[in-house]
Amino acid sequence: MEQTQPPASLSWVERLVEIDTTSRDSNLPLIEVVAAHLRDHGIDPQLFPDESGRKANLVATIPAADGARSGGVVLSGHTDVVPVDGQQWTSDPFTPTIRDGRLYGRGTCDMKAFTAVALHLLPRMVEADLRAPLHLALSYDEEVGCLGGAHIVKQIADLGLAPEVCVVGEPTSMRVVTAHKSINLLEVTFTGIAAHSSLTPQGVNAIEHAARFITEVRGMADAWRTGGPFDPAYPVPHTTTSVNLVSGGIAGNTVADRCVVQLEFRSIAADDPAEVVESLRSVAARLEAEMKAEIPERADEVSVRLEVLAQVPGLDSSADGPATRLALALGAAEPEGKVTYGTEAGQFAETGIDTIVCGPGDIAQAHAADEYVELDQIVACEQFLGALIDHLSATTAEAGR
Ligand SMILES: [Zn+2]
Repeated sequence: MEQTQPPASLSWVERLVEIDTTSRDSNLPLIEVVAAHLRDHGIDPQLFPDESGRKANLVATIPAADGARSGGVVLSGHTDVVPVDGQQWTSDPFTPTIRDGRLYGRGTCDMKAFTAVALHLLPRMVEADLRAPLHLALSYDEEVGCLGGAHIVKQIADLGLAPEVCVVGEPTSMRVVTAHKSINLLEVTFTGIAAHSSLTPQGVNAIEHAARFITEVRGMADAWRTGGPFDPAYPVPHTTTSVNLVSGGIAGNTVADRCVVQLEFRSIAADDPAEVVESLRSVAARLEAEMKAEIPERADEVSVRLEVLAQVPGLDSSADGPATRLALALGAAEPEGKVTYGTEAGQFAETGIDTIVCGPGDIAQAHAADEYVELDQIVACEQFLGALIDHLSATTAEAGR
């Protein structure tokens, strides 16, 4: 019987998965391991702590043979993972375990395998005669709204690295993904006036006005669903929105003076997120005016406040742009429609870097109990990044083929 060899980068995948980097916790233990590895190979990484100092982005450049540090390709990965709270796992999520050709553990698929393969190949990157530099960009807090990603693209720009191409290694089964929707999370706080429920004219009911807002949101959702615009490359071919969290009121016999509503919308490229936010703001402003009018003499106690909690830009890269052409030349699978989940790719693309998503593992296993990555996928990623090094170190004539 043929004995399958474990992937060469397996020990790096295991090392990263063993470090619990759930988003609510620090990612510094992982960042320090990566930084030490880079320094061991003569690469001085840049660390960018967040405001709390508990987390950091890491940017590292493997310069071209002529010393050039700008241009080239950036490999992007997030360091955090989603919680395992309440999930039933067959084996400990932070003790990577191989069963049936799969490596199980939190973050194996989303998305430590990609980063681990890059770290495994670091010695080859350093020794290669690169025509253009390779960059590594590791972020924090991707899973809670791409917070580190918003900073890391600026940090890369400030360092003057100006990569031409970015590969975000989120799980796509090593298929090129060129587009995903934007993600926008908003919170609207309705502040009314409390009153005994037998004296409703003396109160301004925050819940009732929030309900009217929710109805308006549903109206927007219905309009997109029936009237478009449409992008048939998406499984849900239009912009979507829904109210997914409501809290308000203190008792059954008290007019509620407070109601908080959270809604999300995910837009296709034809809908501008800023315009959607503006139309939600105007709904909120109209309702605020109507609430104030109920008891004009107490109008200053009444308000509707809309806050954007998180925004991740959409991605809409060209299917024959430099990033896609490069990834296909390195052996990635052809694009197959647009995807429903969001990534940091839109943030990179917004700064002018041609960006695709392509990484090992299937998004279906991300965030789930018993998350796993197929060992074959790790091997495919090793071949892909290995081919990238070969491509970047080939002579110009060879590279042009
Ligand atoms: Zn991810």
